[in-house]
Amino acid sequence: MIRQVRRTSILLSIGLFSGISTATQQRPIQAPIWAGHLNIAEFVKTEDAKLASAEAAIAALSKVQGPRTVDNTVEPFDEAFMEIDDAVGLAKLVREAGPDSAFRDQGNEYVSRAESARQGLLLNRVVYNALTAVDLSKADAATKYYVDRRLQMSKWAGVNRSAAERSRLKALRDELSKSQTSFIHNIDEDHRKLVVKPAELDGLPADFLESHKPDPDGMIVLAAETDLYPVLKFAISEDVRRRMLQTAYNIGYPKNRDVALQMLGLRFEIAQLLGYSSWADYDAASKMTRNAKAIENFIAELDKVERPVAEREFPLLLEEKRKFNRAANNVSVHDLAFLIEQVRRQKYGVDSSALRAYLPVPAVMQALRDISSKFFQVEFRKEENPSVWHPSVETWDVLDQGSMIGRIYLDLYARPGKANAWETLPLRDGKLGQQLPEAVLIVNLPNATAGDPGLMEQEELDGLFHEFGHAVHKILSGSRARWAGEHPGMTGTLEFDFVEAPSQFFEQFPELPSLLTMFARQYKTNEPIPSDLVNRLRGAAAFGRAMLGTSSNSLSALSLESHERKPVGMDLDSVLNRENQRFSLLKMAPDTHFWASWFHLADYSSNYYLYDWDAVIVQDFLAQFDLSRPLVLEPSLRYRKAVLEPGGSMSANDLVRNFLGRPQNFDAFKKWLEEEFTER
Ligand SMILES: [Zn+2]
Repeated sequence: MIRQVRRTSILLSIGLFSGISTATQQRPIQAPIWAGHLNIAEFVKTEDAKLASAEAAIAALSKVQGPRTVDNTVEPFDEAFMEIDDAVGLAKLVREAGPDSAFRDQGNEYVSRAESARQGLLLNRVVYNALTAVDLSKADAATKYYVDRRLQMSKWAGVNRSAAERSRLKALRDELSKSQTSFIHNIDEDHRKLVVKPAELDGLPADFLESHKPDPDGMIVLAAETDLYPVLKFAISEDVRRRMLQTAYNIGYPKNRDVALQMLGLRFEIAQLLGYSSWADYDAASKMTRNAKAIENFIAELDKVERPVAEREFPLLLEEKRKFNRAANNVSVHDLAFLIEQVRRQKYGVDSSALRAYLPVPAVMQALRDISSKFFQVEFRKEENPSVWHPSVETWDVLDQGSMIGRIYLDLYARPGKANAWETLPLRDGKLGQQLPEAVLIVNLPNATAGDPGLMEQEELDGLFHEFGHAVHKILSGSRARWAGEHPGMTGTLEFDFVEAPSQFFEQFPELPSLLTMFARQYKTNEPIPSDLVNRLRGAAAFGRAMLGTSSNSLSALSLESHERKPVGMDLDSVLNRENQRFSLLKMAPDTHFWASWFHLADYSSNYYLYDWDAVIVQDFLAQFDLSRPLVLEPSLRYRKAVLEPGGSMSANDLVRNFLGRPQNFDAFKKWLEEEFTER
């Protein structure tokens, strides 16, 4: 599950070639992105050149006399888009993983500059009018869809509003961007600690205790950001779990109280100015859901499916809790991870680290390569001595039937100064005949140490495949994209609430028994993983899905409800309490303000539902496969062609329909949810 980790996703992308080339032009293999950007000065030069080149393309487009055509208007528009995306992609890479802090600061600076250029392009009236005037009667379907969607995206941004309204919108968006940044900054800078006695950490694994030795006063200092999850999962003392949760769920508070309300207020005003009744409605317009009501219905439907199963899980959790506290009559937020772990141990005889000894990083990386190449029908070729920003970064060329179609960089290991994230950044947009797509995985796998080859946790295994799913989506779609701007990212034409489907889909693969048995070997003895253990792990993984789902619903509802009206006098504590009572079976911890530390209030606004929306689609997709033989050509090739390759060249609702032969439904998801109570 990626739920414990800060959820990030594919964000943006790019372009390198400044000339407009014809589709079949022969060209040398594209140089890796880092070639020539080895220092700050080179980086700045490259970024400035990209932004200047985007401006030049826009200027050329603006000067066209006579009839507007695809060649004289859509091409330079897409060119400008690609250059800006390119600038953002590289700047984000530098910001997240750059070699030193001055370099990373410069990356941050160019993320802002390039994003502001993109906003300018979106709101450029001359460009908008020019695109509107293009004769598309003879254009191909992808071009028609692209231009139509781009125009719509500009309208959502407010391009056809009056000059006064546009300047107001610009001011509001600048303010919003500032308050989002300070919301996240307030979280990042708030390092809270909890001091405990060694005996209070009973239950924590040996390696955790090893890395948390008592200080001279005999106390152990826990850091809320990094130690929260292990403590919630393993600490036998309920009191410590509660105090740890209270520490972590006060991060950002009270500073973020005003910032959050300001953020919500600005969003509401933007939506109103653009003619929508709320931000939730406005922001859903560009999604598969299309409006806030559909999101509300989705959460309600999900609740209908999940609640009955959660009500069967609940007594098992309470029973475990009573083993530690005979009088217990409820399960709190700070109990959930611990009790799920206890049930898994009791019922299936496995703990969540049982898989770890079978997951040395090198073996998993090999499996990632083997499984991905078979499933997606491509080859991954590792570059020797690649040009990269850190010696540990790997570069994989992606080949389709012998031809290079893109490149994936893998920045795999934690190191000081690197973002503590699990994310996939698009680095270059693909454009057929012009530029190959590139993406980078930024993850934080454990480094090998003496006596430990770098063993992965189960969540890290899933997380790695999840991010790789994003990267492959980016490469396969970008390698055949007619237009650079149709990529599957936040600013591309693909609906953003579909972007987490290919990643969550691929995340399911490494734990499929048929695949896990192929690569999981005990790191000391090289023994294959026993099939009995695989079965028990499978059963254990199925327990708790509905309880986790219902608490996720309360967050989706928080995200939606806080954006459905003007936030004057809004008390986010009571919104969260209300939604928690409505959807979750868990008792909230007193004196906590979870929303203040919740990044997604800033980056996903009203759209937190999208992970679950995609999780439902993913189960429907998976049900089309024989999971005992998931790597056979059919339907994997059909999935690649129908779902991944089209990228944002058509609506995601059509992608789903094209693969399933119908719209998605809850049937497969319901079955997956009930797996723990189904005879196997
Ligand atoms: Zn993701």
